Order: sequence, then C-alpha cells, then structure tokens
Amino acid sequence: MTYLPPPHISPLESILPDEPLLMMGAGPVPIPHRVAYANSIVINHLGETMSKVIEQVKNMGRYVFQTASPHVLGVAGPGSAAMEMAITNLVAPGTSVLSVTNGFFSQRMAEMARRVGGSVDVLTVEDNVSARPALIEARLRTRKYDVLTIVQGETSNTVLNRDLQDIARIAKAHGCLVIVDAVCTLSTMPLDMDHWQIDAVITGGQKGLSSIPGVSLLAFSRSAWESIERRQDHLPHWCLDAKLADKFWNQSSYHYTAPVSGILALHEALRLVCEETLSARFRRHRVCSEALQTGIEAMGLTLLVEAPSRLNSVVGINVPAAVVADRVRGHMSSTHKVEISGSFGLNILRIGQMGEQCREHHLFRTLHALGLSMEANGAALNVPAGMAALERRLSERGDRPAGPV
Ligand SMILES: *Cc1c(COP(=O)(O)O)cnc(C)c1O
Repeated sequence: MTYLPPPHISPLESILPDEPLLMMGAGPVPIPHRVAYANSIVINHLGETMSKVIEQVKNMGRYVFQTASPHVLGVAGPGSAAMEMAITNLVAPGTSVLSVTNGFFSQRMAEMARRVGGSVDVLTVEDNVSARPALIEARLRTRKYDVLTIVQGETSNTVLNRDLQDIARIAKAHGCLVIVDAVCTLSTMPLDMDHWQIDAVITGGQKGLSSIPGVSLLAFSRSAWESIERRQDHLPHWCLDAKLADKFWNQSSYHYTAPVSGILALHEALRLVCEETLSARFRRHRVCSEALQTGIEAMGLTLLVEAPSRLNSVVGINVPAAVVADRVRGHMSSTHKVEISGSFGLNILRIGQMGEQCREHHLFRTLHALGLSMEANGAALNVPAGMAALERRLSERGDRPAGPV
C-alpha cells in the first residue's frame, strides 16, 4: 500500500504577520487575555465542573440580555447559527413572517425563514435610515403575522433601528413573536429583552461580547418557549433543535459535545461585562464611538449615515471619489498594523466599536492610521485636526471612559 505524499505546508509563523494586526473592523474583535486563556483549556463537556460553568454562563447571559427567562441557550456555531436556531424553532412550514430588512444581515433572517418553509413577507427599509414604527404597524394591519424579524444594528450599512422598543411593542400588540438580531449590538447599547417584550435575542461571540467567533448565545422568552413546546413536527435541523439543546443547557445531559473551550471563553467575556456593568459599558461605547466619529469628520471625511439613524457599534465612512477603499485598507494593515473592514457593495470603510475596540489607545492608533492611509491614497485631509478633535472630545465633560485596558 502506498499513500499519497503529505502536502508541503508553510509553518503558521510564516503565514501570520510578525505583529498581530489590531482588529478594528466589523468583527472579529480583539479579545481580552482572560478570554484567550480560557479558550486554551479543555475540560469534560459533561459533569460537575461544566455544570457550574453553564449555570454561570446562563446567569450572566440573563443579565446581559436583561431577562428572567430560563431559556438561555448556547450554540456551537457563528452568530448565524444562533440566528438559524431562533428561526428554525419559531418558524414552521406555513408560519407567516414579516421580516423587516435594512441590509445584509436582516435579509439573512428572511432567507432562513423561507428555507424552513415560512411564508415570508419582506418590509424593506429605506437606505440609511432606521425602520419607522408607523410603516411597520401599517403592514401588520394588512395580514396576521406570527413572527417578526428585525436587526437592532445592521452591521453591513451601519444603520441603527433606534425605535426597536416601539417596534417590538407594536408587533406584540399584533400577536407576533419578535426575533431580534443583536449580534453586533448586545452589551454595547441598551437592549432590555423582557421590558421590550422581545421573544428571541440572537448574539454572537466575536462582536459586542469580545469573545471568540464560533460559540454563540441566544435567549427565548417564555412565550417563545411555549410555542417551541407546542410544536409536534420534527425540525429540519437536529443540532439547532432548541428542545434537544435544552437537555445540555438546562438538564446537564448530552446533546452534542459542547465547544468547551469556547464556552469557557464566553464565560470570561461575560464575566468582564458583569464586572464592568452594563451601564458603564454602554457609556464607554457611546463615548468612544462618538469621539471617533467626531475625529473622522474633523479630519475632512464624511459618515454614511446621519446621526439619528447612525449605529455606534460599527461606523461607516464614505470613501472620497478617486480613493480606492481596498488600497486604504491594505495600507492600514501593512504600514500601521491596523485592520478595518470594507463593505458589501457600498463604497464605505467600516470601523468597529464593539467591546475591546472601544479603548482610547485603539482609537488614536486607528484614526491616525486611517488618516495617513487615506492621504497616501490621494485623499486631501487634515489629519492633525482629526486627532485633536478626538482628544478634545474624549476629555470633554469628564467623559473619558475609565476602566481596564
Ligand atoms: C456579524 C453579524 C451576523 C453574523 O454573525 P456570524 O458570526 O458571522 O455568523 C449577524 N448579524 C449581525 C447584525 C452581525 O453583525
């Protein structure tokens, strides 16, 4: 027997950059040392130690989601897997769904609902503005919908659905279960699951929570859970079946081998949120993001979305005519070791302000890198004016966010 020869492989060190890039794009974001350390540990996925960890993850999850619901679950998978878990459990063949879409990620929920047989109508929100409660209410009057899906912050085009609380209230009044994608926003700005009457909140690890990608958390309300328990049909997705996942998350038994290291990492990320407290964390995010936006504008660049509809968690910057966005990103990575994101089709660059990205020293380095890289690619800017505005804004009103680096 002869075997195929092994492939020629470059060592990882020769593939990775000499110095890790500062991850300032739309995710994944930098992770704190405690999260990285926890991610290096493997323990038994069942048993006493894991049970304690899971209890604490659920408790901290309830705080972060602001819910008393016992139905906080994790999933081995990206934010999209948490999204698919919410959809597949709450949308059965024939379920009528209204998907409010602002962009790429909110459209993904509509697509997932269609794939599990939902009867999906899409309400497309105008470009660059928040969804308007009145338009949604008008649509809800035309037909009985069972489920409404909506995103809190649309990462793809940096639009915030600022009236989410009103929209959820209206949707509940029309008898809908409300599914909210909070992947980029959870723990960066208020989302009060119980008080806002949201039935499923979806999040991922690698954005607002500053954990690793690939392990995600979601929460179902009690009424969402009743609807899940009422279902008699077999779900198309075995791994994403919430009743099966409940065996692991609430009954200490086996569903599939849990991603233990990633759950430990998530535990540490959530613990850091609890230590900081939500109110301090929201403030840090607001102060940092607004200061960054001020600096970008003072440099001579413009932002894609006007203030009232603008998402703070991911900032969308218009690329001046004659400047090639990808060259700016390339220059930022190679010269300044800072990575930011391009976009899906729009001529913008995106800088993340999620979790560990919202630290003062990262803001200065990122804004400086952006300014110089724009100039190197033909933009006429005033970089010192931008840096000065960032500094001024951070020191105003004693607003400087405190806290650990
Ligand atoms: C990133 C993101 C997702 C998808 O998360 P993945 O982990 O890439 O699957 C979904 N919704 C929003 C709003 C996001 O920002």
